[in-house]
Amino acid sequence: MVYFSSSPRFVDHRTGPQHPERPDRIRAVAAAVRAAGLVDSPNPFPEFSLDFGSFPPAPGKVLELPEPQPADEKWIELIHPRAHIERVRHFCEIGGGVLDQGDTPVSEQSFDVAKLAVGAVLQCCDAVMAGTAARAFAAVRPPGHHAEPDRAMGFCLFANVAIAVRHLQARHSVGKVAVVDFDVHHGNGTQAAFETDPTVLFISLHQDPRTCYPGSGYAWETGEGAGTGTIINIPMNPGSGDAEYLNAFHTRVLPALDAYKPEMLLISAGFDAHRDDPLAQIDLSEDAYEQMTRLLVQAADAHTKGRIVSALEGGYNLRALGRSVVRHLVGMM
Ligand SMILES: [Zn+2]
Repeated sequence: MVYFSSSPRFVDHRTGPQHPERPDRIRAVAAAVRAAGLVDSPNPFPEFSLDFGSFPPAPGKVLELPEPQPADEKWIELIHPRAHIERVRHFCEIGGGVLDQGDTPVSEQSFDVAKLAVGAVLQCCDAVMAGTAARAFAAVRPPGHHAEPDRAMGFCLFANVAIAVRHLQARHSVGKVAVVDFDVHHGNGTQAAFETDPTVLFISLHQDPRTCYPGSGYAWETGEGAGTGTIINIPMNPGSGDAEYLNAFHTRVLPALDAYKPEMLLISAGFDAHRDDPLAQIDLSEDAYEQMTRLLVQAADAHTKGRIVSALEGGYNLRALGRSVVRHLVGMM
């Protein structure tokens, strides 16, 4: 069984009319999971319509978690200094503005919505650690994996998944945590949070940084000090497809997880490596997302009692996003 957490409030983070990281992303996910038969509750966005095409018969239903609550700032402070939290709060209080040189706009409600996004991921962690279902997916925005401890960046305000790692360690006494990030962009924020920390293994597959935002994530970036060896960057050539990604999983990701033996596995689940995505040049099909997910479930079965918490990062073609999220959920079921 898989828990599912989302909120209609995630559309209240407004980024402007032309921005790829837009409220309709949440509406598309809400519509797709219902079109695929994974969710029975009424769609909070009945006015939104998109033809997702057909889906294979649903293997079951996800377990919808109750409306998430904004994260207590004490958890956010496990990653971000107070000054960063206050800067985001201030920008929103004065009506919004642009953080990070142009690509991270915020609106009046963005601070609260960003705390809600963290809250949804933490809710998933609490649910999985309580033990009824082993896996959970949080369909949130804003995303988190570009947010570094002291700065917003790349559409991200708070490092949702990195905060979840610290929450698991602090509240649930989890020791070693692995984060696998298959968003097409390097998870620089997560890397920055754990660069020197041997208790977190961070594996990021992303388009070659010479050709793609944010320009980091080279293979030689492997962590520093006590954390040396626990950052694994796997740059993928533009034009790579399912075969190249699955090969990277078999030859790099799964052996690294087996060697590290994490007690908990988190996924930064971006779906912008899809072939229809407008922001990058990787050619994955939706099937690849299900297959990669199944491989991570196998690793979780071997090391984490099957436990996985996954959080939405990127994915900017609405149809591809919705269909890929469905396949990711099916892979976790
Ligand atoms: Zn991305």
